Amino acid sequence: MNIILLGPPGAGKGTQASRLEAERGMVQLSTGDMLRAAVKAGTPTGLKAKAVMEAGELVSDEIVSGIIGERLDMADTETGAIFDGYPRTAAQAEALDGLLAERGRKLDFVIELQVDEDALVDRITGRFTCAQCGEGYHDRFKQPKVEGTCDVCGSHEFKRRPDDNAETVRTRMAEYRAKTAPILPIYEAKGLVRRVDGMADIDEVSTQIAAILDGKA
Ligand SMILES: [Zn+2]
Repeated sequence: MNIILLGPPGAGKGTQASRLEAERGMVQLSTGDMLRAAVKAGTPTGLKAKAVMEAGELVSDEIVSGIIGERLDMADTETGAIFDGYPRTAAQAEALDGLLAERGRKLDFVIELQVDEDALVDRITGRFTCAQCGEGYHDRFKQPKVEGTCDVCGSHEFKRRPDDNAETVRTRMAEYRAKTAPILPIYEAKGLVRRVDGMADIDEVSTQIAAILDGKA
């Protein structure tokens, strides 16, 4: 089973990918990670990539394909791969089909975790955490039981991430739409796209994804 997992920041993609790895033995393949690993391991394509990056140039589609191909030849991907952040363009989508076909595999689904932008802004902008133990809180959904005191460790210090603001969330959403716009229609045409409500409870999202992978949705 090979899938592409799509979703804007905050949709819970990382959590769902980790669950699929743990529960189904799938492997999450993010191009950034693969590139770094290939460079470090000094694979043939990794060496090419290293030279290109050291020259301050962008890594070409050909090199990215080479790195994904090398990764797909490793045994742990045989159970299934979760592509994350790739493909971004029609050309890359075609290359991915080729890479999988050469290995007798195919892409099964493109699963998009959908979010409601306004709800996502609400969810993210209200977040804060205990500075001591890291327990997560939310202005509207989960205040400490005693105001200003962490439920878990009793600390009075809390922190907020500077990028948890409405403007950043909306910019990321726009970037996400721009990135997926070139490839979604391709996979729509092939009937591979499935949508899941990324705003639902984490377990519910997992259940919905499982139903798709098991052919029940
Ligand atoms: Zn705490």
